[in-house]
Amino acid sequence: MSLQLLRGQTAKSPLRAGQEKPAASTVLQSQNAKQLTRIGKAKAKPRLSFPVGEETRDFYRRIYPGTTTAEWNDWHWQFQARIRSAADLEKVFILSEEERAAATRHKGPLPVGITPYYASLMGRDDPNEPLRRTHVISTKEDIVLPGESIDPLAEDHDTAAPGIVHRYPDRVLFLTTGTCSTYCRYCTRARAVGNPGGEYQFSPKQWEQALAYLEEHTEVRDVLMSGGDPFSIADEKLDYLLTRLRKMKHIEFLRFGTKIPMVLPQRITKDFVKMLKKHHPLFLSIHVTHPREFTPETTESLNRLADAGIPLGSQTVLMKGINDDISIMKPLMHGLLKRRVKPYYLYQPDPVKGSGHFRTNVEKGLEIIEGLRGFTTGYATPIFAVDAPGGGGKIQLAPDCIVGRDGDNLLLRNFEGVVYAYPDPGGTLGADKRKPKHKLAAE
Ligand code: SF4
Repeated sequence: MSLQLLRGQTAKSPLRAGQEKPAASTVLQSQNAKQLTRIGKAKAKPRLSFPVGEETRDFYRRIYPGTTTAEWNDWHWQFQARIRSAADLEKVFILSEEERAAATRHKGPLPVGITPYYASLMGRDDPNEPLRRTHVISTKEDIVLPGESIDPLAEDHDTAAPGIVHRYPDRVLFLTTGTCSTYCRYCTRARAVGNPGGEYQFSPKQWEQALAYLEEHTEVRDVLMSGGDPFSIADEKLDYLLTRLRKMKHIEFLRFGTKIPMVLPQRITKDFVKMLKKHHPLFLSIHVTHPREFTPETTESLNRLADAGIPLGSQTVLMKGINDDISIMKPLMHGLLKRRVKPYYLYQPDPVKGSGHFRTNVEKGLEIIEGLRGFTTGYATPIFAVDAPGGGGKIQLAPDCIVGRDGDNLLLRNFEGVVYAYPDPGGTLGADKRKPKHKLAAE
């Protein structure tokens, strides 16, 4: 599934002849190279100019010696050279027993998959380094907690046509591909991604059925393309899909959910952005996790998208020991804004089977929102939401600022915990609350 989407380009082997490399990697590359050869010859020379961060340059010189900057900056090269097996992981990290055991025996969906670029940001020696924890498999995934499920949001139940999840009246989720450039260990669609030939097949072949459904359902105004990662689809195929969708007059909004600008920034080529621009208005929700993801490479990818006039929003999953602290979340939100990405959603993790080690209590999310509100610009404060298990949709949560009522005055708590009276004659809001302990600002 994955490489067949990379049509129209060829890529050199990530590891050069004459170098001593682990056998598993060699096999992997030779299989990928064969697939790429089958795909066909390059139609046009890719534009490869991209900055390379210092840390990343040191990494690739050490781990992929002999690789040129042009190769490193070629997203096809990055895709082909992804770290996919225990042997590949050993080459980059000092693995813990938990990681090695899990990577060695894993089969089926949600495989190991990390672009060399993204691996360059991860801790080599420390299995608890945040980005490494989110992408390197561990036996912790064997622990299944009550309430967890392989399809926590009941997307299969709401599937109306192949790849189309139709839950809300006027909008649909369009699962366009099962491929991602990197596989996140907490993925809500762990059941469905990275498993070509498996039960779930999201591919250009089934797009026609999905498009026929959308043509018929004129109540649909908004299509969110996700997957997998839709930006892993080759330019010309995505162009085709967008063209077909744009022909449907009832569809007003086209949105993408993608992690690629942060994990494979080289994919945001100038040609790709030019293609996207043809299909305005487009909106992008970018999956970001940690301030460590801000590099010269990701700054460039976000700049290119913002310069193309695409409104950028972020979505972040709140995860225990990874980003569940205001000292991480605040620079993350500020870093996004500085790169013209509006922090959009902060999600409580979905109860995916085997993901309990990532989950925090809901209070933690509220605490983080409290720590942002009033202490930084409102633009830097995302919506905190729980996606209701069983398909109930997103439920927004916010710290409760209504502390009570005093006759015709509604009592509201500000970000410093000071209570203010707002004249609200005839209202009943807050009447059911106990008298606030807080001192009124006016007292
Ligand atoms: S990029 Fe998105 S779809 Fe792919 S594994 Fe990560 S969370 Fe899942």
